[in-house]
Amino acid sequence: MKLQGKVIVVTGAASGIGRAMVKRFAADGATVIAADVDAERLAPVAAETGAEPVVCDVSDRASVEALLNRPRVDVLCNNAGILDALTPLADVSDELWRRVMSINVDGPFYATRAVLPMMIAQGGGVILNTCSAAALSGGRAGAAYTAAKHALLGVTRSVAWYYADQNIRCNAIAPGAISTKMHTREAPHEGGMAKYAPYFATVPPHGKASAVADVAAFLISDDASYVNGEILSVDGGWNAF
Ligand code: NAP
Repeated sequence: MKLQGKVIVVTGAASGIGRAMVKRFAADGATVIAADVDAERLAPVAAETGAEPVVCDVSDRASVEALLNRPRVDVLCNNAGILDALTPLADVSDELWRRVMSINVDGPFYATRAVLPMMIAQGGGVILNTCSAAALSGGRAGAAYTAAKHALLGVTRSVAWYYADQNIRCNAIAPGAISTKMHTREAPHEGGMAKYAPYFATVPPHGKASAVADVAAFLISDDASYVNGEILSVDGGWNAF
């Protein structure tokens, strides 16, 4: 029960990696607040894990601030995110760029800004950002998603550096290809897919969301007390290629 007594907020908690995090953290003894835009899919997660369900759109500042307006948060997991259909930059519309940035970057910014004063006042805390293999190279997704995850890694390192002396740790995980509905929700951009296809053979077998949650549980625990500003790949070796 490594997370006993910790109050943990997870965004994007109704599906995939976020859902697996909620399950794992609750099993490790934490009090979990499961936040997602989708109220219907949150309900079974709450029923299964005992987590508190909160409907929250991370791209909406007021919604995020309402989520985090609580007496204590020990751990914030900025996990909600969307893909960009592998769209190369010349074909990225203003709308796609804004949507990807607003959920993948603005959301973690709003949440982290809201939670830092509370963590400072309570004497410390932990922030974990779900980045991606696309935070580390240019050929894992389209332009908007790649830029967003690189930005989130920058935020991770900045927060780690500025707040280490306040007993706050901020790290990132970089999942590779994980079996969740993120991959199946929309058809990929034809040109982006054509570029990507020759490299399919370099992608290790898809991983399970629970494998990412297991690593997240380590990074937010006291076992990782001196790990700060780090990004940890959970990709079956994809990044080694
Ligand atoms: P997922 O199964 O689609 O889960 C993401 C969850 O976030 C969904 O429940 C989604 O709700 C929710 N969400 C979307 N927009 C939101 C918003 N504005 N506010 C709050 N919640 C929102 O995807 P996943 O694979 O678990 O992705 C989780 C994280 O892992 C993301 O940050 C993603 O970029 C990252 N990641 C995933 C992979 C992978 O291979 N799966 C690889 C690298 C990184 P809706 O379904 O209603 O939109």
